[in-house]
Amino acid sequence: MEAEKPTTTTICTVVAIDHTDLYYTVCSFCERTLPPPQTHCNHCTLTTNNNNCKLLFRVLMSVATDKEVFVVVLFDRSARLLFGSSAQVFFDFTNIHPFSGENASKILEGEMLRLTLSKPKNGNAQHPRVVSVVPLKSGFRPLMDTLAQLYGVKKTF
Ligand SMILES: [Zn+2]
Repeated sequence: MEAEKPTTTTICTVVAIDHTDLYYTVCSFCERTLPPPQTHCNHCTLTTNNNNCKLLFRVLMSVATDKEVFVVVLFDRSARLLFGSSAQVFFDFTNIHPFSGENASKILEGEMLRLTLSKPKNGNAQHPRVVSVVPLKSGFRPLMDTLAQLYGVKKTF
């Protein structure tokens, strides 16, 4: 990858996702990240009595190009596109179907994606961040569609 450009576009194949760590929690009011196990925002609890948090996706995904294998991070907007649901809906689904995380990774394996990547803003050698994701297979189905079919669940979301 060319290190100087702010974003790069690459065609790659999914190797796996880290299904053990797919989420992070934010305050539903100000969207500040809440470090686990914190489930309320100190800032907003004081000023607005807001005491709600919500789950967002943060997914680490290993991808392979013809030259290298590397890890990228998908935040909520790009991850939703692959999962076809919100993080909360997926989280609830995995509580009922404990292996859906593993299966999600298997389903995505080998999927060809066009990724636009940006380098992390702070220079702490973190993973490139996915700015946009385009599945290249015609008729790509979001993970939740495939999982719902796999588990014989009627899609209600
Ligand atoms: Zn807050």
